[in-house]
Amino acid sequence: MPELRKDPIIDRWVIIATERGKRPHDFVIEPDVVKGGFCPFDQGNEHTTPPELFALRDSGTAPNTPGWHLRVVNNKFPALVMRPEDLLNRQGEGMFDKMNGIGTHEVIIEHPDHQALLTTITIEEFMLVLGAYQERMLTLAQDPRYQYVLIFKNWGRAAGASLEHTHSQLIGLPIVPELVQEEIQGSKLYYKWKERCVFCDMVRQEMQQQVRVVLENQEFVALCPFAPRSPFEVWILPKTHHSSYMDLSDASRRHLAEIFSATLKRLEKSLLSPDGFRAPYNFILHTAPLRDPAMPHYHWHFEIMPKLTLMAGFEWGSGFFINPTPPEDAAQYLREVKL
Ligand SMILES: [Zn+2]
Ligand SMILES: [Zn+2]
Ligand SMILES: [Zn+2]
Repeated sequence: MPELRKDPIIDRWVIIATERGKRPHDFVIEPDVVKGGFCPFDQGNEHTTPPELFALRDSGTAPNTPGWHLRVVNNKFPALVMRPEDLLNRQGEGMFDKMNGIGTHEVIIEHPDHQALLTTITIEEFMLVLGAYQERMLTLAQDPRYQYVLIFKNWGRAAGASLEHTHSQLIGLPIVPELVQEEIQGSKLYYKWKERCVFCDMVRQEMQQQVRVVLENQEFVALCPFAPRSPFEVWILPKTHHSSYMDLSDASRRHLAEIFSATLKRLEKSLLSPDGFRAPYNFILHTAPLRDPAMPHYHWHFEIMPKLTLMAGFEWGSGFFINPTPPEDAAQYLREVKL
């Protein structure tokens, strides 16, 4: 019998197929069409991107020239734009509300090598990516118009990536996105009731039970959540309470890079199709809003979602997700995969 499960933080239900759950090779992974040709993110093509906002480069090299390890630039086709003079300007139009589409949309070019992937770069290189997220967040936090910075990655065409070159994206917003608000509200309610952080409780219980845990190290745990929306969904959380990613220390960044890299490698290997195609995925970073970084009830985390199923009418209409792989099974596949 399938099971309905509720997310412990927000009001989100999922339907988990508990019997005959889908195994890694039951999913059809489409080959990514390699477009090839000119790549604006390659070393030597810096002049074809908007000017860099942040870069890690060899000493003595000039901005927007070769010699970099990581670059952050504005998205050429931004979803939102922010100029120094722009104000939020909320307006009503009858019963409808609108405001200026201000915000920022940046691209984090994670590595100069066109072939590089987060699963092939070194831990040191992975740390640079994680550090760049933090750096941009801290910088954008200085502009009072921003309330939230959402970091995300789309990998593979099916997950929404339009360029092959390894990159993640950042959207700075003048509002806190609804899903984050829901998580904050949900965790606030739980805290009011129990005086404990729901994420800390989750981490503690999962580590005790060791059923849905994929990996752990000194500071972080990677686990398949109890009510995952997608097969092989994995969350990475700090083991101790931290509400804002902006506070990540240098030592923690290394532990995070290690567990993140190992998790992505396990996902890639487990879900690799018999023809050698890698599964597309998305990940997002959920952290406290910029103006409210210290929250006793909220706990930052990464959510990684392989793109193996399609969101169809039922999901769209109900907000329910149907997940054909129980997280207990997914965690076991991920733990047992030989790297
Ligand atoms: Zn490239
Ligand atoms: Zn916590
Ligand atoms: Zn979240």
